[in-house]
Amino acid sequence: MDKYKLHTSSPDETMELAKRLGLSLEAGSVITLEGDLGAGKTHFTKGLANGLGVKRTVNSPTFTIIKEYQGRLPLYHMDVYRVCEADEDLGFDEYFYGDGVTVVEWASLIKDQLPQERLDIDIYHAGDDQREIVLKPLGDRYILLCKELQTK
Ligand code: ADP
Ligand code: MG
Repeated sequence: MDKYKLHTSSPDETMELAKRLGLSLEAGSVITLEGDLGAGKTHFTKGLANGLGVKRTVNSPTFTIIKEYQGRLPLYHMDVYRVCEADEDLGFDEYFYGDGVTVVEWASLIKDQLPQERLDIDIYHAGDDQREIVLKPLGDRYILLCKELQTK
């Protein structure tokens, strides 16, 4: 599997990177975010929302599982941290195969329910405000996206 490693040195840089991704996403895109607490998953989602033209402030949906925002395309922001019955079908497919962009924080908890084609992103702490952002595209459209992102 191809991996694309990127590095950011500030919250703003991560925001900018995620915004560029948000600008090129199409309907039915699925992005997963993994990383420790405070790695920057929600921060990344804010940037992505910005790129999608979402005007409202994006906050972590921890208590609701899914929050929906209106932009150039709808954004479905999921945080499945509190979904404990991982093998229970909670109807995620409506979002994954819908007309918007879905971002899933802690996606490994619902691994078996994720679509095969998606962009997996791992964010790692790399000291203070440094983050390593590893993109793992699954499917041709996501490989293309990653190549675009890598060349500024
Ligand atoms: P998560 O959703 O992964 O738990 P958050 O996005 O809520 O994490 O928080 C990430 C925190 O890390 C924010 O306070 C952000 O300002 C800070 N931060 C510092 N450096 C970076 C960076 N390079 N990229 C993203 N966030 C960063
Ligand atoms: Mg979060």
